[in-house]
Amino acid sequence: MSEVVIKVENLKKHFPINEAVPFKKSTQSVKAVDGVSFEVYKGETLGIVGESGCGKSTMARLINQLIRPTEGVVEFKGKNLATLGSKEIRSIRKSIQMVFQNPYASLDPRKTIEYLIAEPLAIHHIGDAKSRKKRVIELLEVVGLSGYHAERYVHEFSGGQRQRINIARALALNPDIIICDEPVSALDVSVQAQVINLLKDLQRKFDLTYIFISHDLNVVRYICDRIAVMYLGKIVEIGTYEELYENPKHPYTKALLSAIPKENPFDKKERILLEGDVPSPVNPPPGCSFHKRCPHAMEHCKKDVPAFVDLGETQKVACHLYS
Ligand code: SF4
Repeated sequence: MSEVVIKVENLKKHFPINEAVPFKKSTQSVKAVDGVSFEVYKGETLGIVGESGCGKSTMARLINQLIRPTEGVVEFKGKNLATLGSKEIRSIRKSIQMVFQNPYASLDPRKTIEYLIAEPLAIHHIGDAKSRKKRVIELLEVVGLSGYHAERYVHEFSGGQRQRINIARALALNPDIIICDEPVSALDVSVQAQVINLLKDLQRKFDLTYIFISHDLNVVRYICDRIAVMYLGKIVEIGTYEELYENPKHPYTKALLSAIPKENPFDKKERILLEGDVPSPVNPPPGCSFHKRCPHAMEHCKKDVPAFVDLGETQKVACHLYS
């Protein structure tokens, strides 16, 4: 088994809802992430998939320590991040970088590309102006752009090129892991494939580990080794790419997969239409949080939270149909 880069154990993030009454303590909270555990191994890509609002982006921010958890543990290479001081966290942040969904919003339009890519180096006091400039040119070439782009501004680039700039910026500090939060959702389909291919090339070249967050199971299959499916702040199924696509177990995973457009028009698989909307994370249903939409729901699904069941070495599911 390869080295564990990130380990997350019973991770929770509950955001209190501010009451309109001053000085009254909030009693309700949004359970954005509600008891999530998984490991990410060196050199792999773990996909985290779910509908919007399922907590996947909050989890990315918890792992990167942009927000602190309500409960639970995040470990980076065996170090519990909650026990580290601010100096050590700063140093670990170099190793955990992020690429966000909107490549325009995450890049300051008033700065040159050279400034934007060199900024992480300047923040961490790495090198001088001359060596940073050299590194910027090197990074631009690594992501398929050219050295002369360094003098330009964000508005002069297409969406795909802007995402390449974001990736160059994320690579600047030689990270161990990059968390890609919906990195291709805002791009055209043809450009999505180019950015995904670039991420795969960079992974091979620099031995990178990725967490790839997406609402689209069709996109993650091109890059992920393992996939975790999230629903209402919890992981409901996790397994290798083959296990999930060829033999999905959880009714929610099956419904998500059935929504992917068929490659073969003679494929008879029917689309599973889920009834109702995702319930509010302020007041998730008791028992299995999917029971109100599940076509297989049984009486005890309404009361008992399903435990994770091992279905083999790598596939696990939280569903009473398998316990
Ligand atoms: Fe459906 Fe019950 Fe399984 Fe939940 S535990 S997914 S309600 S069958």
